[in-house]
Amino acid sequence: MQAIDLRRYRRPLFFTGAGLSAESGVPTYRGAGGIWAQYNYEDYACQRAFLRQPEQVLEFHELRRTRTRACAPHAGHLHLAQLQLQYPRLSVITQNIDGLLQRGGVAVAAELHGSMWRLRCRCGVREDSAAGPYARWRCERCEAWLRPDITWFEDAVDADVFAQAGALVADCDLFVAIGTSGVVWPAAGFAQAARRTGAYMIELNPEATELSALYDRHLRGTASQLLAQWFS
Ligand code: NAD
Repeated sequence: MQAIDLRRYRRPLFFTGAGLSAESGVPTYRGAGGIWAQYNYEDYACQRAFLRQPEQVLEFHELRRTRTRACAPHAGHLHLAQLQLQYPRLSVITQNIDGLLQRGGVAVAAELHGSMWRLRCRCGVREDSAAGPYARWRCERCEAWLRPDITWFEDAVDADVFAQAGALVADCDLFVAIGTSGVVWPAAGFAQAARRTGAYMIELNPEATELSALYDRHLRGTASQLLAQWFS
């Protein structure tokens, strides 16, 4: 079969999930070795837990940050960055919070679920620190506990970020999903939206997913292998 010729598409859009980071050593949420097989999200990844035990929740996130910092972008991330240089109209939206795409040189149009490298306060203050642990866990201005700037279980998503991503999906003529199970909503709805716009749909994943039926083409394997093999 022939490689996918990105020149044929006006607005290619890549939609990535935790599976893209798996080869860098960042665990996915679901499946073997997934984070929620080890930790109960109700103790670490929801606003209720944060209100009950902010220090325990922040410690958990610092641990994940430390582990993620030790991971490096893999050949798939670098290949994607190269494709973007070649095709500046190629947009990337991600559910990943680990910043590996950006570290690999990819311009990310929307971080749908935020970033583990930021903390935020309800008073509007944001702390950003990827190099080391957070300088403070409490807001300098109002002294409240700062919370990770990510979408937890039971949170509403960021409406502005989703609107921005939605506009890209509505306009795309090629939709490529990489390493996403399609079970986390509303982000999973982007695949359905792209289907409705008539975009050509390609799924890159070692396994079939709940949304596989939406796709025109299924490429089975790991992200780095499939990106190198099919996209140039
Ligand atoms: P998921 O854990 O639900 O699914 C991961 C998918 O990746 C699976 O379908 C799996 O078959 C596939 N996969 C595994 N290894 C792969 C590989 N080498 N190459 C390609 N695909 C591979 O992840 P999701 O769909 O992104 O949803 C999980 C949610 O959890 C997201 O909201 C995301 O924000 C968050 N999350 C993020 C990270 C991260 O930032 N790295 C990690 C875990 C979870």
